[in-house]
Amino acid sequence: MQDMKIKSEAGWKLDNTYADLPKTLFSKQKPTPVTAPELVILNQPLAESLGLKTEFLQDNDNVAIFAGNKIEEGSLPIAQAYAGHQFGYFNMLGDGRAILLGEQITPSGERFDIQLKGSGRTPYSRGGDGRAALGPMLREYIISEAMHGLGIPTTRSLAVVTTGESVIRENVLSGAILTRVASSHIRVATFQYAAEWGTIEELKALADYTIKRHFSDGENLENPYIFLLQEVIKLQASLISKWQLVGFIHGVMNTDNMAISGETIDYGPCAFMDTYDPETVFSSIDREGRYAYKNQPPIAKWNLVRFAETLLPLLHNNHEKSVEIAQNELSKFAGLYHDNWLRGMRSKLGIFNKESQDEDLIENLLSIMHKYKADYTSTFSALTLDKSYDMELFNTKEFKQWYELWNARLNRQQESKESSIKLMKNSNPSVIPRNYRVEEALEAAEKGDYTIMEKLLYVLSNPYAYAENQSAYEKLPPKSFSSYRTFCGT
Ligand code: AMP
Ligand code: MG
Repeated sequence: MQDMKIKSEAGWKLDNTYADLPKTLFSKQKPTPVTAPELVILNQPLAESLGLKTEFLQDNDNVAIFAGNKIEEGSLPIAQAYAGHQFGYFNMLGDGRAILLGEQITPSGERFDIQLKGSGRTPYSRGGDGRAALGPMLREYIISEAMHGLGIPTTRSLAVVTTGESVIRENVLSGAILTRVASSHIRVATFQYAAEWGTIEELKALADYTIKRHFSDGENLENPYIFLLQEVIKLQASLISKWQLVGFIHGVMNTDNMAISGETIDYGPCAFMDTYDPETVFSSIDREGRYAYKNQPPIAKWNLVRFAETLLPLLHNNHEKSVEIAQNELSKFAGLYHDNWLRGMRSKLGIFNKESQDEDLIENLLSIMHKYKADYTSTFSALTLDKSYDMELFNTKEFKQWYELWNARLNRQQESKESSIKLMKNSNPSVIPRNYRVEEALEAAEKGDYTIMEKLLYVLSNPYAYAENQSAYEKLPPKSFSSYRTFCGT
């Protein structure tokens, strides 16, 4: 373990335990300095929870840290190695444009990775420039903070600085660096890298480290690696159900974009579904719909199979037995996912207890929402407020019949109508980061006006408030957004 340095004025207290792992798992790499860093957004509540003092974070010295121009005392910058499946094909990857500065120890003793994204080339950059553009970094900032507001596990965004340099993509864009905060950046692909190119000892070191950092309850078990597999399966079953329940589409569920901690990670071409359609795909690069809304649970399982494969040498010393253990654990994913989803859907409909017909009731609603192209978020918030928005769905015979059945169902439970409404308000966001709102905020920000983004972030920080001042953000998207596409935009 590295010596932890004295706390800085701004509250930095960085440890570097990942750098104690076998050298094959990372490369020492400093960020590449930039010409004219400027802080454009700082997440004050997050900074405070990390033990950082916002009044100091905004001075030049600290902005230089966010830009990679200055290395804070106690930081041992590294780029992490990983290798995983992108759209089904295995590739050598790694932090091609990210640098882990260290792990911030919070006042309550928690440990969070502090990572710069867009901080220059590394040994894993392949053909890339190691840089990032302002729009996509702000997009990650907005959506990750929205996910946090929704109560969905996610990496978070501490700051964005512009670099004063251009990045060349299809157009010439402003360069920027995002400071990302995560429980860790250990990915399914980190295990795949260790399993593919490391020794068994190196793989074991990574697994032991992960267990110690995230799953310490399993440390003293006879076989902690089975526990590791079980816990990761559980966390993903829970995470993906939460995505489905709010209509979040990640867009690139490659194995490098699945965190072992169970946090949503790597916001690229993600977006929230407006009109309910299980086939929805936003990403321009996902031509076959591999990562469509309805495919997210089976793809998570596919990624977990890749994860389990990496653990085979550790699960049992007999290969056949290892495979049997892995298959047994993996076979639980679908049930775990379904239980989480069903529990969440019951809450969205204000249902407290279980009845065997509930799933039919839910599926029935979803199928008429699909048929009448209803907006996913607005349908549930309309049910919550018991009012019908200007949507075709609410005037149909099918919906009226469903509504009767639903009311009868609510009347059959002990809890009052008020309790149901409360449950629904806590389960159905009235605001989500609608694509047109995000685009509007980014467009203004790219011209130097951050006020629209700040207002949007404020509303998204409390999406279950059902407050008067949010109504403008509940509006359905304009028709022109019905064929909205997202781009990786790296
Ligand atoms: P992502 O699509 O963000 O999940 O990234 C996939 C891989 O490409 C990761 O290994 C990234 O580090 C790498 N990558 C993405 N953009 C760049 C870039 N501009 N320069 C170097 N590497 C990059
Ligand atoms: Mg990635």
